Amino acid sequence: MAGCIFCGIARGEVPAKVVLENDDVIAFHDLDPKAPTHVLVIPRRHIASIDEMADGDEALIGRVFAMARDVARDQGVQEGGYRLVTNIGRNAGQSVDHLHVHVLGGRRLTWPPG
Ligand code: AMP
Repeated sequence: MAGCIFCGIARGEVPAKVVLENDDVIAFHDLDPKAPTHVLVIPRRHIASIDEMADGDEALIGRVFAMARDVARDQGVQEGGYRLVTNIGRNAGQSVDHLHVHVLGGRRLTWPPG
């Protein structure tokens, strides 16, 4: 999608510190990390959020979560525990309108979120 920063990362046009990638999904370090491990996992294809996923996108979203699991293992936070977050819309604080799952770990995370 024109003007979408995460589409630019998915196409390799915007620099990012890539952790893992395959044909459909790419994971990269968040620019402004909120935890010792903070990686974003996105589908390469533009979907604005989970609220915008279509029937037929289930396998792709499953691959996003599978890569989030692999990122946790790669980053060494699997044993200590980690959190997957996907913000949807303004009240949740979504600031980039390209579906992304945050992988957060490496410290004790509070609950509920503020
Ligand atoms: P959200 O607020 O849930 O939409 O999360 C968007 C996240 O994207 C924030 O944590 C930002 O720090 C991060 N972010 C924005 N631009 C970039 C970028 N170019 N590379 C990596 N992370 C980014």
